Amino acid sequence: MKFFIISRSDDLSNDLMATAKAYLEDFGMTWEEDSPDVVLSIGGDGTLLHAFHKYREQLSTVAFVGVHTGHLGFYADWKPIELEKLVLSIAKKEYQVIDYPLLEVSINYQNSNEPSVYLALNESTVKSPDVTLVMDVILNGDHFERFRGDGLCVSTPSGSTAYNKALGGAIIHPSLQAIQLTEMASINNRVFRTVGSPLVLPGHHQCTLKPVKAPDFMVTVDHLQLLHKDVKSIEYKVAKERVRFARFRSFPFWKRVHDSFIDSER
Ligand code: NAP
Repeated sequence: MKFFIISRSDDLSNDLMATAKAYLEDFGMTWEEDSPDVVLSIGGDGTLLHAFHKYREQLSTVAFVGVHTGHLGFYADWKPIELEKLVLSIAKKEYQVIDYPLLEVSINYQNSNEPSVYLALNESTVKSPDVTLVMDVILNGDHFERFRGDGLCVSTPSGSTAYNKALGGAIIHPSLQAIQLTEMASINNRVFRTVGSPLVLPGHHQCTLKPVKAPDFMVTVDHLQLLHKDVKSIEYKVAKERVRFARFRSFPFWKRVHDSFIDSER
């Protein structure tokens, strides 16, 4: 079996990476950056986001696992002290693979028929570079509302505990095939009106954003941020691809939510 390790590059993460690499090679596993079977991410959820984007073209064959060297993460849910146990389980292939939904983002341009297509593990946000964002929100081809405000966020279920949560979105169990649209500070008064609540769309629905005035937008996809010019529309839907995680023991999603946000001994 082939493995690769991505570290957050702090001293503790680098030390754990060296230890895990030595153990796994002792067990006869091969260090392989180009096409690994298992990718161990050591750091935080942010480190796993980087690992996900590095292997974005190999999602059907790579299984991710995360060790946290800071606080408990949603993707990075193993403690450093458990490293030996984890390495042994990887070497013995004693794990299940579970998969979670992803968000597909397609950005269409006014002067091109070639959209830019991205996959997000957490979310994509849209903001205007310097003025209030004004966009029409279209659901399954029907005009839903004209949004004015700071921005819009579309998240995956596993990303619902990240930026989405800070925006007042719901936490969605990752077994649900869904995406969630949340508002950032919408302008609501007698003239301008939005629904004001997060919307959860099922797997077969689509959300399209269409510029009303300025066609240039800052679009994030997880930790990546790019200015897109002359945008015609941005389409969001549940992707056909899924992300695979190596699961070595039961650690239910709602327990992770509890331990991350309510109270934790981990
Ligand atoms: P960052 O600003 O360095 O870290 C953002 C924080 O979000 C970190 O504490 C990270 O955990 C945590 N996080 C990432 N994915 C998560 C998840 N699925 N559930 C719960 N927490 C999660 O940025 P980054 O490391 O490059 O990560 C980019 C992410 O930052 C974006 O995808 C977005 O979700 C998040 N973000 C959040 C806000 C906000 O909450 N107001 C604003 C902007 C961006 P670790 O410490 O374990 O890495």
